[in-house]
Amino acid sequence: MAKTPDPAPRTPETGTAYDAIVVGAGFAGLYALYALRRLGFTARAFEAGGGVGGTWYWNRYPGARCDIDSLQYSYSFSEELDQEWTWTERYAPQPEIMAYANHVADRFDLRRHIRLDTRVVSATFDEAEARWTVETDRGDRVTGRFFILGVGCLSAANRPPFPGMDDFKGPIYHTGEWPQDGVDFTGLRVGVIGTGSSAIQSIPIIARQAKALTVFQRTPNYSVPAWNAPLDPEYVRAVKSDYPALRAKARARPTGFYFPFNAASALSAGPEERERQYEEFWARGGLPFLGAYGDLLFDRQANDTIAEFARAKIRAAVEDPATAALLSPDNVFGCKRLCVDTGYFETYNNPHVSLVDVSKAPIERFTAEGIVVAGRLHPLDAVVCATGFAAMTGSFDKIRIVGRGGTTLKEKWQAGPRTYLGLTVAGFPNMFIIAGPGSPSVLASMIQSIEQHVDWIADCMAHMRDVGARTIDARVEDEDRWVEHVSEVAQVSLRSTCSSWYVGANIPGRPRVFMPYIGGFPVYVQRCNEVMDAGYEGFVLDSARPGNAPPKVRLTERWHVPLDVEVISPAMLAARRVPVV
Ligand code: FAD
Ligand code: NAP
Repeated sequence: MAKTPDPAPRTPETGTAYDAIVVGAGFAGLYALYALRRLGFTARAFEAGGGVGGTWYWNRYPGARCDIDSLQYSYSFSEELDQEWTWTERYAPQPEIMAYANHVADRFDLRRHIRLDTRVVSATFDEAEARWTVETDRGDRVTGRFFILGVGCLSAANRPPFPGMDDFKGPIYHTGEWPQDGVDFTGLRVGVIGTGSSAIQSIPIIARQAKALTVFQRTPNYSVPAWNAPLDPEYVRAVKSDYPALRAKARARPTGFYFPFNAASALSAGPEERERQYEEFWARGGLPFLGAYGDLLFDRQANDTIAEFARAKIRAAVEDPATAALLSPDNVFGCKRLCVDTGYFETYNNPHVSLVDVSKAPIERFTAEGIVVAGRLHPLDAVVCATGFAAMTGSFDKIRIVGRGGTTLKEKWQAGPRTYLGLTVAGFPNMFIIAGPGSPSVLASMIQSIEQHVDWIADCMAHMRDVGARTIDARVEDEDRWVEHVSEVAQVSLRSTCSSWYVGANIPGRPRVFMPYIGGFPVYVQRCNEVMDAGYEGFVLDSARPGNAPPKVRLTERWHVPLDVEVISPAMLAARRVPVV
């Protein structure tokens, strides 16, 4: 795999006692630093990468860009920031999102709290001191009353150990650890393994450079055109003239971002009307295509109609019927994370692009010359592993996190992640997770999820300071109930039915558990508010004064808005699986 240069030497930091230690300087870590400082807490953040931005620092592959409109895939905590930053495209490319993250770090003077090129390797809770001791791979050893994990859900690259990889004479890249200076594929025979979002974004661009491109596909994916384009300045001005209104509409949506949504059932319309509706939503492009009908992710028959529409689009785009058939998924539409593309399917019409099915005969091995499948060598000069991530828990697994009684988080999560509200883990006091398993995280616009979590955490810490509490720990019974609830809600959705990274099925040997909370962002926020307003219901606070007294609402004020029941899916309501209505 391509190597990054060694970082400049520095003196390790030892012995400093902070209020909080933050892991990661992606959008989660950055906002955590801002929020904690606003409430008067000291913090140190460690970031394994050589810069801020997290996902957008690491994923520099050709074509990387967001697939939620940039005007919404951005922080909402500062009206000034919203006004001064101008996105240039509907879906900003990676360099622009990186520039934004760097702007935020400078604009809010966050860099001085961050140590880059530094990986946290262990964190241990000291019961007597009620503090976390955190150690890094650069020799740092510091303590924090609180330990906050902003390590990312899609930050631990999945590198399948194909036999013979070391023998391959060319470079092997992973999309999630792309070389900082980019890669030029001009004149090369390139192999791409995988057909998820990263592959689907990068394949059309790599195809333009490469002499020959071979794509190794295990499972075909649905993809909707992005119709990406420069943003019309008039439209941007209109949004900025009332940005809070757009943010409020976004917060009220199950996905945490706003797009036109039709709650009616796909089965209530006749075939012609449905076709018109799908065409209209297809023309809007991207993830909002799923807004065409309200039951697409809940009713298999309804889903079949959109799946067939999407397959017909593949057949129309791909000239060779055999290739089109191979590229056509037969699983539930939107079950795996929906992809958003620019010219992906059309790329296969190029004579120098070929598709190799590895669903039945998997990749056998690498040789010096290329990749062997079903006994046939595919000669290659470079390979791109677009093989995704050890999603949701992979970056937690890499840190030795030791809670009460010497239990490690890895042990506790052996059969799948267990959290209370996705924010905390029983037995790991004063430890908070930002947008991790058990919260809407990857099923919502993630910056919204991050901000809501951080605000809740910061308010909780401030409350503990108000009441003189040393520790907060979730009760096991409440954690169990939440885990059960996350799992039962998942059953209502068709999303739980396929082998996706949401359930850990992309990597052999991982427990099959639906990890994100699928009950919808506003419902989840309401539950977090209720828990907080009831004096941190479900938690034990160790304090001299009554800890579970009504807390003061500080940063969470903007999330304390009435729940709009209209936006909750009728299927969720009918199943009576929504906890707060
Ligand atoms: P990350 O951005 O992953 O940052 C976590 C950071 O923690 C990383 O920089 C990592 O180096 C660091 N870290 C981890 N472990 C350690 C350790 N032990 N020590 C020190 N540092 C550590 N979401 C959307 O909502 N919309 C999108 O359009 C979208 N597009 C995406 C495109 C790609 C290619 C990918 C991979 C993800 C995308 N996502 C998208 C999800 C994206 O991850 C989130 O939107 C968001 O950027 C997550 O921010 P974060 O800070 O939580 O995590
Ligand atoms: P991914 O969706 O997990 O896709 C990985 C691909 O590699 C899949 O096609 C998978 O096949 C294949 N694969 C894995 N191991 C393999 C093996 N041993 N042999 C052959 N094929 C193998 O990962 P990703 O594309 O990096 O995307 C991850 C997530 O990041 C997305 O779902 C999305 O949330 C986010 N993302 C967003 C964007 C965006 O548009 N903004 C772009 C990139 C990523 P199987 O399906 O059979 O497992």
